[in-house]
Amino acid sequence: MSPGILLKSKKESSLLSCKIRRPFPPAKVRIPYDDFSGPPAVPCVALGARVKVGETIALPSGGESLAIHSSVAGEVTGLGFFPHPLKGIASGVEITSDSRDSRLAEIGVERKGWEIFSAEDYLNLFRDAGLTDFKRENMPLHVKILKHRGIRTMVINACESDPYVSAAQALMMAHPLELLKGAEILRRAAEAERVMIATETDKMESAEILKSKIYFLKWKNFEVRIFPSLFPQDEPSLLIEQFRSKETEDSIAVFEPAAAFAAYEAVALQKPFYERVVTVGGECIVEPQNVWARIGADFEFLIKSARGLLRRPEKIIMGGAMRGMAQEHLAVPVIASTSAVLGLPPEIAKPGRVEPCIRCGECVAHCPVEISPVMITLAAERDLFETARDYGVERCIECGNCSYVCPSKRPMLELLRYASSRISKPDPEPAQFETQNSKTNVETAVTSSYGEK
Ligand code: SF4
Ligand code: SF4
Repeated sequence: MSPGILLKSKKESSLLSCKIRRPFPPAKVRIPYDDFSGPPAVPCVALGARVKVGETIALPSGGESLAIHSSVAGEVTGLGFFPHPLKGIASGVEITSDSRDSRLAEIGVERKGWEIFSAEDYLNLFRDAGLTDFKRENMPLHVKILKHRGIRTMVINACESDPYVSAAQALMMAHPLELLKGAEILRRAAEAERVMIATETDKMESAEILKSKIYFLKWKNFEVRIFPSLFPQDEPSLLIEQFRSKETEDSIAVFEPAAAFAAYEAVALQKPFYERVVTVGGECIVEPQNVWARIGADFEFLIKSARGLLRRPEKIIMGGAMRGMAQEHLAVPVIASTSAVLGLPPEIAKPGRVEPCIRCGECVAHCPVEISPVMITLAAERDLFETARDYGVERCIECGNCSYVCPSKRPMLELLRYASSRISKPDPEPAQFETQNSKTNVETAVTSSYGEK
């Protein structure tokens, strides 16, 4: 396996304070109710209804669905389709805040006996609190746990190898005990034997905090493992490889620290999911920081809460600089998988001039899944999709390493995604492909030219 890429960290500015800032509630939120894999939730509020923070606004429509909650107190002012950072547009509920921020009375009140509930009880609480796995596919947490019930090792993936994103690290430093208790809840729900917290060498401080808390709790089945801070160390399939030496793949499952923390809040503190930690960062942001962002708040509000823009960004990205999704405007809302909102300047985000391949082999040397990006992309340029398949395009995890190292600035990620999409959908409708391709263009623009090498 390739050792990965050592990227210059840009996290320091967002970690200047280990406090996670809590901005005033946004004036308006637009909360999607089908923002997870599985049947969409069904809105249970009408136009004009008054809601509190944490109140249910959409009910699960089946066993694999989720409840959705209001993130502000105020009035329901819209039911319809609104901008979405991954889908372009999605159905949701618009709530205009009354600025009072009053929340349901039970939120924050410790639930009796929460440490010893049954696995079934935990799963029901996760569904009713609207918890997901916090990944891009946004699978309901109870569904993911059912898929992995009985695993031996639960990995909490605190490797955050993108150069800008520090949301998980901030959470570990600010709330280590709550995070560990949440991981224990997940372990019990999944009936797993042990919990391994995976982190990286550039996060030794938070790793030591977690170790000392585990020692204090006397939890023998918890361990912190430290890996080199190389990109993409946080890719779950690569982490599983590293934990798998003596186990089969089926006995390991990877969960996000944000999911563990949200599980603790939902189970112990009766707090449904309506906010998450987001890194607002990048060279264009006046005060990069980690904030508690309400679900449905738009990116413009989030950027303003970090004192706005220092200069005009070339790109606004949701997620990391290497794999995030470029956004066309700032009206898109924070969703469960929004780990970061980055404002990147032209010297970072502008695509370089594309030159022909010089057969240097750098992309092959840095591919973490050991396929041949050069051969796949040369095949994709000629629409030879069977050849791309033979060279392993289906194993690509879209980490962007090949784009990053390519001295010719070839649009590797775009070509890899093009080949993958044509293999999975051999005859795409033209409009459908165009949309996907235009998105990958902006992403590749960022990943292919990011930072200094
Ligand atoms: S994007 Fe795909 S092909 Fe390129 S380095 Fe990553 S895994 Fe390998
Ligand atoms: S890194 Fe770029 S130039 Fe080098 S072999 Fe790969 S595609 Fe060709």
